[in-house]
Amino acid sequence: MEKKIIITTSWDDGHPLDLRLADLLEKYNLKGTFYVPLRNSEQRVMEESLLKQLSTRQEIGAHTVNHIYLNRLGDKGAKYEISNCKPMLEDITGEQINAFCYPGGKYSQRDIDLVNNAGFLFGRTTKLLRTSFDVKSKLMNTSVQAYNHSSVVLIAHSMKNYYLKPILDNTVFIKGHKNFIGLVENTLGRMSNSGGVFHLWGHSWEIEEQGLWNELEMTFKVLSNVRNAEYLNNSECWRYIEAHSV
Ligand SMILES: [Zn+2]
Repeated sequence: MEKKIIITTSWDDGHPLDLRLADLLEKYNLKGTFYVPLRNSEQRVMEESLLKQLSTRQEIGAHTVNHIYLNRLGDKGAKYEISNCKPMLEDITGEQINAFCYPGGKYSQRDIDLVNNAGFLFGRTTKLLRTSFDVKSKLMNTSVQAYNHSSVVLIAHSMKNYYLKPILDNTVFIKGHKNFIGLVENTLGRMSNSGGVFHLWGHSWEIEEQGLWNELEMTFKVLSNVRNAEYLNNSECWRYIEAHSV
């Protein structure tokens, strides 16, 4: 019997182009979680009125107050960044904020505990090539980034995380240097028997910089046609896995 595939997406940094991304998601009936910092010294962040508008359409998640990598902060600074972004976003959106994402994918056990204590359900990482996660860890991993990483980067990523299975699973892809849509199709193909969570993530500013809007739309089309798929935002996906894990 074919198992269910959950498809979720997430988009980091709150750039004004996230609105274009939300339009594209909705065109294909996909759901996403947008992780928005209150401020960011490196990228534009959408103004509050746009954020409020986006929150009526898609889930908003927290991404610290100032988009600072947590490994660069002492205990006090990390606590400030993690515990304050939630009420600040709730004030702006009028919605409860349940999802958190670690800037730059940097976190330690201290930060996992802070995220937990602040009342978030989980922290989203930047770990790639995963199709499952363990709810006890309070970490949500991803499958594919909407970005054309070189094979070398993907192999190095797997080795750094002591996670070698994807290298074997994706040998043909990695040899072929294809675009990320190829990695999406390859991963979904393997999931047709096993089921699991397929999680696409990225940055709208990066998609613009790299000229990837067409490839992204083709990818959304592929995702919208997966058999036995359920489309959930990150928090819905977390709750679904929590309810179905032993
Ligand atoms: Zn970020």
